[in-house]
Amino acid sequence: MANEADRAQIHEETFRAASLARTKNATGPEPLVIDGQVCCANCEEPIPEARLKALLGVGLCVNCAEEGEAAAEKEEEKEEE
Ligand SMILES: [Zn+2]
Repeated sequence: MANEADRAQIHEETFRAASLARTKNATGPEPLVIDGQVCCANCEEPIPEARLKALLGVGLCVNCAEEGEAAAEKEEEKEEE
């Protein structure tokens, strides 16, 4: 039970920080929460805690964020043509 309570608390703190960050800088999709873990909104893979702490409010894993950036750059190139 202690483990579950710990996990719940970590999740609560992480998610509160993420929510606060989003009110300041609400970009990108909101992360999913699956089984008490913050997960990528795109591929549903768990987002590492280090990434969540480094990028508060992040809703995408590294792979999906990079794909999104690459796609955004392509869009910009198209517009320039
Ligand atoms: Zn992902």
